[in-house]
Amino acid sequence: MKLWVNGGLHDAEGALVSVLDHGLTVGDGVFETIKAVEGRPFALEPHLDRLTRSARGLGLPEPDLDEIRRACAAVLEANPMPLGRLRITYTGGVSPLGSDRGDAGPTVVVALGPTKRRPDTTAVITVPWVRNERSALTGLKTTSYAENVVALARAGEQGASEALFGNTVGRLCEGTGSNVFVVLDGQLHTPPLASGCLAGITRALTVEWTGAHETDLPLDVLERADEVFLTSTLRDVQAVHRVDGRELPGAPGPVTAKAMRIFAERAAQM
Ligand code: PMP
Repeated sequence: MKLWVNGGLHDAEGALVSVLDHGLTVGDGVFETIKAVEGRPFALEPHLDRLTRSARGLGLPEPDLDEIRRACAAVLEANPMPLGRLRITYTGGVSPLGSDRGDAGPTVVVALGPTKRRPDTTAVITVPWVRNERSALTGLKTTSYAENVVALARAGEQGASEALFGNTVGRLCEGTGSNVFVVLDGQLHTPPLASGCLAGITRALTVEWTGAHETDLPLDVLERADEVFLTSTLRDVQAVHRVDGRELPGAPGPVTAKAMRIFAERAAQM
């Protein structure tokens, strides 16, 4: 496996980033996960836009997108695989052992790993921890994902593949690595960005292609929604068949099935 570190391709085993990298010591970094089908990245430019927005939000130097595009192409070419997840990590670089950032310049890592198509339906849980819609990090895809790691582990213990968060005012927000949609009276809704969710690229395409409404929703909407689905880069549109203890028989329901179909058709044309 070859990956890209700061300007060149390296064997994964020998690729080195400093142990004093601010991304490692304090989580001062941003990232993107991009699906690659037969070596072709899906929606690369929207991912690079979000990487840039996340980097600006942390006050990191502006990413060199030409280098990152070259890195993605080189890594994809060096590691052929049918379905891959391309990961761009961009951090504050080597720094003193505090929260202040040094001036050594950013670290850029682009790596690729295999992934599998997700099942069409899944179970989810809700967790009691909240997304802070008023944090300095709201909406940024930073490498500080430990809360997601904890929530996802709890989901796994309960036989689910995703955990959903509310925000500080009790509104539905998002999953550890996905956005959430619900169907109420035949209408499709998803929480607005102001809920504190990530501006998911799959979410944006799904809203555009289905006309879903961006609606402030209480967390307990999950107790009465007719259908629920998740969107993310590695899931596309994935129906939910159980939320906490509540079964959603017949998932994917009609609105979800239509969203899955539209997404698959349009994505194949991109
Ligand atoms: N929310 C979070 C917290 C995520 O990590 C992800 C995955 N990037 C998403 C939502 C979905 O975003 P996307 O559709 O761009 O993968």
